[in-house]
Parts: sequence; C-alpha cells; structure tokens
Amino acid sequence: MSDCLFCKMVAGEIPADVVYEDDDVLAFRDINPQAPTHVLVIPKEHMATINDLSAVDAQIMGRLFLAAKKVAEQEGIADVGYRTVMNCNEDAGQTVFHIHLHVLGGRRMTWPPG
Ligand code: 5GP
Ligand code: ZN
Repeated sequence: MSDCLFCKMVAGEIPADVVYEDDDVLAFRDINPQAPTHVLVIPKEHMATINDLSAVDAQIMGRLFLAAKKVAEQEGIADVGYRTVMNCNEDAGQTVFHIHLHVLGGRRMTWPPG
C-alpha cells in the first residue's frame, strides 16, 4: 500500500533500524521505545489488523513469532523474558494499520498492561 508507513519501510523508502529480515518478515527498532529492547516485527505484505486475517495468513503469523524469538535471542533477552504484543484497533491503541508484533524486553514488565 503506497500510503502505508510500514510498507514504505519494507520498500526502503523510509529508513528503518533493521535488526532482522527474511523473505517474508522485517523487524526494526521502534522509534519511541517503551523498553530497552522494543522491536516491531512486521509481515512484508500489507495487512491492516488482526481482523483482516484469514486462514491463508496463518503461516505468516507464525513467522512473525519465529522472528520475534530470533530477535529476543539476538538482544540477549530470550531467557530473562520478554513480551510480545499485537494491538488491534482503537481500544487497544493501534496507531499504525499494518500489522506489527511488538517485542519488548530488557526491563521487568507489569501486568495487567495499561
Ligand atoms: P501501535 O500503537 O500501532 O501498536 O504501534 C505503533 C508503533 O509504531 C508505536 O510503538 C510507534 O512508536 C511506532 N512507530 C510509529 N512511527 C514509526 C516510525 O516512523 N518508525 C519506527 N521505527 N516506529 C514507528
Ligand atoms: Zn502496509
């Protein structure tokens, strides 16, 4: 999608601090980190929200988690722990409508989330 911020990052039109990339997935540091490690893992293909997913997207969603696992290992937070979050629509606070899995770690997380 030409007017999507994260599609522009995939296309290389907007710079991203990339920490992991493969054929299907891009992972880059969040511009406004909420923890010492805050990485966004996105599918290279545009999909707006969880509500837009169908059965054919099951594999890519699994790939997001496999990438999150790799990022956590690279960042040295796999064993101490980290949080993955995917916000959907307004009440959850979604602001960028290209699906992204937040990977947060490097500090103690609280529960419940705000
Ligand atoms: P959401 O609120 O949609 O779950 O998360 C969107 C995330 O994208 C936020 O954490 C925000 O800081 C991040 N973000 C917004 N614009 C940019 C940008 O231009 N570059 C990067 N790296 N992250 C961004
Ligand atoms: Zn997009």
